[in-house]
Amino acid sequence: MVIQTTINKPKFMSEVRHNWTKEEILAIYNKPLMELLYEAATIHRVHHDPNVVQVSTLLSIKTGGCSEDCGYCPQAARYHTNVDGNDLMTVNQVKAQALRAKSGGSSRVCMGAAWRNVKDGPEFDQVLEMVRTINKLDMEVCCTLGMVTENQAKRLAEAGLYAYNHNLDSSEEYYKEVISTRGYEDRLETIDNVRKTNVTVCSGGIIGMGESVEDRAGMLVALSTLDPQPESTPINALVAVEGTPLEDEKPVEIWEMIRMVAATRIVLPETQVRLSAGRTQMSREGQAMCFFAGANSIFAGDKLLTTPNPDVSEDMKMFEMLGLNPQKPFTKKVQPQTVEADNSEYKGLGEKPKWTRPEHKIERNESKKKEALELRKQ
Ligand code: SF4
Repeated sequence: MVIQTTINKPKFMSEVRHNWTKEEILAIYNKPLMELLYEAATIHRVHHDPNVVQVSTLLSIKTGGCSEDCGYCPQAARYHTNVDGNDLMTVNQVKAQALRAKSGGSSRVCMGAAWRNVKDGPEFDQVLEMVRTINKLDMEVCCTLGMVTENQAKRLAEAGLYAYNHNLDSSEEYYKEVISTRGYEDRLETIDNVRKTNVTVCSGGIIGMGESVEDRAGMLVALSTLDPQPESTPINALVAVEGTPLEDEKPVEIWEMIRMVAATRIVLPETQVRLSAGRTQMSREGQAMCFFAGANSIFAGDKLLTTPNPDVSEDMKMFEMLGLNPQKPFTKKVQPQTVEADNSEYKGLGEKPKWTRPEHKIERNESKKKEALELRKQ
């Protein structure tokens, strides 16, 4: 017997809107929880199979030593954290990790490099070769390499890239409180450059950085007004790392995470909503509620770039218990064709990026720190 898990689409639920207002999203976020869950879960079933969850493995191909000042990030060279920097991995190392991820049930490998932006040259050529190699393993390939120009995005597309991740992080207003070395418009420009190719866009943010609920709604306004909306949206809960300006932020409550996931599902109905950083702080019950609220993707592997993540076997046990199945690769979009390096149409086309360098400077929030210390004493 086939159990029907999706429902017919009432018109208001199948609509993808690009004109959400902050007030509307706030009203959704603040609904009584049971109503919010019911609405989000219903919309989820209209657009997705609720028993399928996409599994990605995040691989840090170049760790630490970054010139930027993202207040949450232990990889920024200017903060004193315990992150050991590494040079760019070799193609063979990446291939071995990708095969391991595939055998663990991942359909996607996301490669992250701690760079402000991509620079044309041997290192970028090496990344392109990694993309070709993983695409040939019949896995979806995603990269998160910082800002990219249009030509670089096209070269990644030719290599067989499936998705490019570039998070908006927060609302435009709060972004300035967390990052000062590049602006919100730079982020949007990179997303725009990726959109000029057939590579899908992955963009989301982080909650628990001291932002208000209005800022969370503001980020969802920014994501929903992108046309098309991102194909995937990671919702991270801050992992406060000692040595970063946000080290004293208190952990995100599970209810905030559930509300954020549900609101994201309603506002971005077709997007894959990903539970990302902060999953180690969540119980299985909490994660199950997030899946019910519309999350349908996770990062697997014991590390997320530099912060801890649940073990793959733990995740598979959770999937079994909840009756969830990992999504097969290329379910949403066909596998990109790889163009070999010698045949690249865009090779050698240099461009001058127009990224900004804003003047303001991120400082530790002393009053927040005091507040957090007081809370810990209670
Ligand atoms: S988030 Fe990325 S750009 Fe920002 S400091 Fe970390 S590695 Fe650099």
